[in-house]
Amino acid sequence: MNSHISLIQNIDALLPQTQCGLCGHRDGCLPYAQAISEGEAANKCVPGGQPVADALAQLLNRPALIAEESIWPIQADGRPQRMKAVIREDECIGCTKCISACPVDAIIGSGKLMHSILTDLCTGCELCIPPCPVDCIDLIPDVDGIPTEILRKAEQDDLRQRYYAHIQREEKQRLHRKCPVVRAEIDTALFAQFSAQNDTIPDIQIIEKEPEMAAKLDAKSTIELAKLRVQIKKLEKQLSVREDTKKRLLLDDLTQHLHQLQEA
Ligand code: SF4
Ligand code: SF4
Ligand code: SF4
Repeated sequence: MNSHISLIQNIDALLPQTQCGLCGHRDGCLPYAQAISEGEAANKCVPGGQPVADALAQLLNRPALIAEESIWPIQADGRPQRMKAVIREDECIGCTKCISACPVDAIIGSGKLMHSILTDLCTGCELCIPPCPVDCIDLIPDVDGIPTEILRKAEQDDLRQRYYAHIQREEKQRLHRKCPVVRAEIDTALFAQFSAQNDTIPDIQIIEKEPEMAAKLDAKSTIELAKLRVQIKKLEKQLSVREDTKKRLLLDDLTQHLHQLQEA
C-alpha cells in the first residue's frame, strides 16, 4: 500500500463512520479523510466533536483546532450526544424512500409495508429524515450510554463495512432500479479505487453496463440507422428531380446525424 493511501486509511480510522456528510463531504467519511490528507482542516467532523479533531491534529502533527459545533449537547466523553432515529410505524406509508437514504442499511421493510429501524445499527445520521414524505421519523437521544474506546472502534469498523456493502448494493441497483433514489449518487469510483488498495475493507466493484442492455441499445441504433438511410435516399431522389433549400438543409442534417451514429 502506498504511503498516501495508508495516511488516508489512518485518518479514516479516526472518523466515526456515521457517513452523515456534516463535514461537507456528501459521500461520507472516506472523501473527508482524503481531503484532510490533501490539506483540508481536520476539525469538521461534527459527530466526532473535539476528541476526533484533537486525535487528527495529533496524527497529522498539526495545531489543534476547535471542533465544528453540533446542535446536540456534549456528552461526558467530549463528543456530541448520540442520537437514534425511530419511525412512527402507524404513520409510515411504506414508500421505501428512507431505505436507500440510510448509509448503513439500518432500515427494514418493503414497498407499501410499514418500515422499522434496527436501533442497534442506527447512528442518528438523520439522512433518512428529509426524504420521508409523511415526516414520520423522529430522532431521540441514545440511552445506551457512552461506549468504551474498544467498543467504539468495533462499531466504527462495522459501520464502515456496512457502508461499503450499501455502496455495492446501490451500484448493483443503479441500472435496474425499481425503488426510489433519494440520495445523490455516491461517487463509487473513489470507493472502488480505495478498496482495491486496501485489504481491510470489502472490495467495491463498478458494475458495467450489462450485455443484455448493450444489445438492446445496439438494436435501437440499428433501427435508427436504417430509418435515417431510408429518409436520406428519399430526399436525394426528390432533390435530383428538383432543388429545394429546406430539403437540402434537412438532407445535410440527416447525413451528419448518420455519420455521428456510425462513428459511435
Ligand atoms: S461522521 Fe464525520 S467525517 Fe464522517 S461523514 Fe459525518 S461529519 Fe463527515
Ligand atoms: S436509520 Fe436514519 S438516522 Fe439511522 S442510520 Fe439510517 S439514515 Fe441514519
Ligand atoms: S420514508 Fe417515511 S413513509 Fe416512507 S417508508 Fe420510510 S418511514 Fe415510511
